[in-house]
Amino acid sequence: MTELMSIPGHIDPVPVPRPQAPAEGGRVNLIGLSKVQIRAALSEAGLDEKQAKLRAKQLWHQIYNRGATDFAAMSDIAKPQRAWLAECFAIERPEVVVEQVSTDGTRKWLLRTHDGHDFEMVFIPDADRGTLCVSSQVGCTLNCRFCHTGTMRLVRNLEPGEIVGQVMLARDSLGEWPPSAAEQQSNYDPEGRMLSNIVMMGMGEPLYNFDAVRDALKIVMDGDGLGLSRRRITLSTSGVVPMMARAGEEIGVNLAVSLHAVTKEVRDEIVPLNRKYGIEELLEACAAYPGANNARRITFEYVMLKGKNDSDADARELVRLIRKYKLPAKVNLIPFNPWPGADYECSDEERIRRFSEIVFEAGISAPIRRPRGRDIMAACGQLKSAAEKKSRAELDRIAAEKQAALA
Ligand code: SAH
Ligand code: SF4
Repeated sequence: MTELMSIPGHIDPVPVPRPQAPAEGGRVNLIGLSKVQIRAALSEAGLDEKQAKLRAKQLWHQIYNRGATDFAAMSDIAKPQRAWLAECFAIERPEVVVEQVSTDGTRKWLLRTHDGHDFEMVFIPDADRGTLCVSSQVGCTLNCRFCHTGTMRLVRNLEPGEIVGQVMLARDSLGEWPPSAAEQQSNYDPEGRMLSNIVMMGMGEPLYNFDAVRDALKIVMDGDGLGLSRRRITLSTSGVVPMMARAGEEIGVNLAVSLHAVTKEVRDEIVPLNRKYGIEELLEACAAYPGANNARRITFEYVMLKGKNDSDADARELVRLIRKYKLPAKVNLIPFNPWPGADYECSDEERIRRFSEIVFEAGISAPIRRPRGRDIMAACGQLKSAAEKKSRAELDRIAAEKQAALA
């Protein structure tokens, strides 16, 4: 059982940790379990301690390192025991509802949990890396005004297995599981994989599902598991200040902060969580983030909204704040990706370029992110919403409920 996550205020909608739900037929799904938990599950199912230890090690390697999808193919386990494992256990990834590939190579999946809730995952290939954008919740309790996921109610937190399962599905789809030691050619190079980086920037606020995100990322980072270095993983938060230090200590991945505005007035409007944890408090937490230094800078995400947060004065204030808190920072300027019913427009190209220049001239890197996968609606929350359109009145009602919860 995981510890209760305590979040001050009224906005934590899922305060009770849930044990991982059983797979079909009451079988225990092994995906998402730690090595120790797999061993305990095997003991509980009847294996003696020595057997449980050995099998747990083999299963771990097969599932997370080799990407096995069933027990039948595990040739290092005796046949009768494979059949027994299949009766008691499952290796179940989330279900793929839709997989789309954009003309620019971006891939997008609509995935479904075992209890029928849809969520999204996106893969963005670049020349020197490939980044998988992973979801942490179905929906979101926060209500950032420019974000499509923010218009959805939080359905539930994703389980550790549903978070690791996303990475495993992407590896399935890209055909990037390493070959076995026996088959392994000398030219296999994990550094050459398309899926090289992970960002927790899909649907949901990862720091409101802390335990599951931490447990899932531990598996992703395990050397005999999925084997991604923590330097290639980034967790993005809208600014859940009380959880940031723990994220640094217990997960230790790179931090991205969705800043998006430099004045209280504007940030209160577009990131309502700012009314609870203000800009100064947030930047103090960034300055204290364990592991942040010039080699591992904090990324500030800044979505460019026309006439709202994109003036020269805003850019200069951003520089002043970063300097004031002596933050090892880089700024990611994100052109706003519009969606039907959104209250904002994207800043003009020239405005974004000028904003970038001002920050850059102060010695802070401020690249402009290219919009990707527009033809497949690859921005957060858009595929799911296309599948289930809500009326404007309903969106307003959900927004009002969320605002009331924050007050
Ligand atoms: N909840 C976390 C992580 C998920 S959102 C957070 O807010 O940081 C990931 C990023 O996508 C955030 O920086 C968010 O502000 C940005 N984003 C959301 N909707 C967007 C849109 N319509 N256009 C551009 N960026 C958007
Ligand atoms: Fe939630 Fe992040 Fe979207 Fe804000 S930007 S509503 S925190 S997913």
